Amino acid sequence: MTDFSYLTACEAEALLASREVSSVELTRAALERLHRLNGALGAFLTVTEDLALLQARQADSRSARGERGPLLGIPMALKDILSTRGVRTTCGSKILQNYVPQYSGTAVERLRRAGTVLLGKTNMDEFAMGSSNENSAYGPVRNPWDLERVPGGSSGGSAAAVAAGLATFALGTDTGGSVRQPAALTGTVGLKPTYGRVSRYGVVAFGSSLDQIGPITRSVEDAAVVLDTIAGWDPNDSTSIKDEAGTAAGPGTYRDALTGDIKGMQIGVPREYFSDGMAPGVAQVMRAAIDTVQRLGADIEEISLPHTEYGISTYYVVAPAEAMANLARYDGVRFGFSVRDGEFWNMVDQTRGAGFGAEVKRRILLGTYALSAGYYDAYYLKAQKVRTLVRQDFERAFDRVDVLIAPTSPTVAFKIGERVSDPLAMYLSDVYTVPANIAGICSISIPGGISEGLPVGVQILGRPLGEATILRAADAFERATDFALRQAPVGIESVA
Ligand code: GLN
Repeated sequence: MTDFSYLTACEAEALLASREVSSVELTRAALERLHRLNGALGAFLTVTEDLALLQARQADSRSARGERGPLLGIPMALKDILSTRGVRTTCGSKILQNYVPQYSGTAVERLRRAGTVLLGKTNMDEFAMGSSNENSAYGPVRNPWDLERVPGGSSGGSAAAVAAGLATFALGTDTGGSVRQPAALTGTVGLKPTYGRVSRYGVVAFGSSLDQIGPITRSVEDAAVVLDTIAGWDPNDSTSIKDEAGTAAGPGTYRDALTGDIKGMQIGVPREYFSDGMAPGVAQVMRAAIDTVQRLGADIEEISLPHTEYGISTYYVVAPAEAMANLARYDGVRFGFSVRDGEFWNMVDQTRGAGFGAEVKRRILLGTYALSAGYYDAYYLKAQKVRTLVRQDFERAFDRVDVLIAPTSPTVAFKIGERVSDPLAMYLSDVYTVPANIAGICSISIPGGISEGLPVGVQILGRPLGEATILRAADAFERATDFALRQAPVGIESVA
């Protein structure tokens, strides 16, 4: 039997279109692999086997009627932060362990209408707070390249599922790097769209001014195809953008941008991103990446983003402040998990005490402190001002260049347990990804090479709504590099 495990969505679609395989066959193969390997990986929290086979049969009959679509019949996975009607949605937290949403979010619904097949919901750091997936209430996820290492976070389950060949693509969310950083650490492609490009309706809220859904895929083309499907204005999210296309991006918009040609593209190299904290192997991959885009005809220019060093501090005031407000709704009344013991406030107290993990409590405390009377001006208001400065850094940069190229993560995947006792070291994992969320711009991480036997991600950042440009640059880079994107990760293959 042919091995479908590492096909891209576009390759799988070609096989489906030529009737070489059916969606039911693809789905059966994916489920078989998932059942065999998920024990070693911990990537899935819920497997929706019956639903998957039903959706696969529906996709097959749609295509038997002559219908075509780039994602019709493609098996995929969703981060467990995305509300799925009738399918448990835990957000990696004990406090939502039995929560079954009454509705699906907009991106999920758009994927369903496109005929995708939902294999299940993926593991994640609790409420998307983390960079290693070790903050999940349901255990860690292991990196398919080395099972002793983290896959990154917070969309660690989605990234591991795609890298290990369990799902053709997955959705994650990125508040400070949670799509791009796990993509970098697992050798996959991860795209964080412009804030507002994809509706947040149905995303369990963490930092509402930062959160954005993004695809994790095996190719840049797949990322474009998924973005084409999920992007666009949504009346249910007042922050979603009404762009020139009116409502949704027209079919093929982003995919059509992939011309392979970046001759004359102005690419900025932000000086501040090439700091001391970067591992030598990452620096080496970055130098090679800059050479590659130059060889492809791009013009390289050094750029300064002077407020980069304040990115992490700004993020760790703004994100916890928003999180503490968003998480106030988990009170023991509304979402299933409840410790009913005595008086009302006792219930709230006990439910939150037992339902939230340590990192979530830390963020609630940080956010409450930053917003409290007397400290609001010193922390929250100040952070908002610095946020403007970070955004202006990018505005100035994009006056001069089309895109920026930078590392995604300062290091390759680290060992499980290595950073758990040191929250600050963990927070620094996101030093290169957080600024894009603070500024609301778009950014993509693509595999750039290997260091210490592990993947290194290269990040391409673009101006607001500049997805077509970063996808074009990323696609040209992908075509030009010999890093085999679908090279089977050794860790998981040793147990497969
Ligand atoms: N690692 C960052 C955090 O812990 C970002 C997480 C995210 O993007 N969801 O908040």
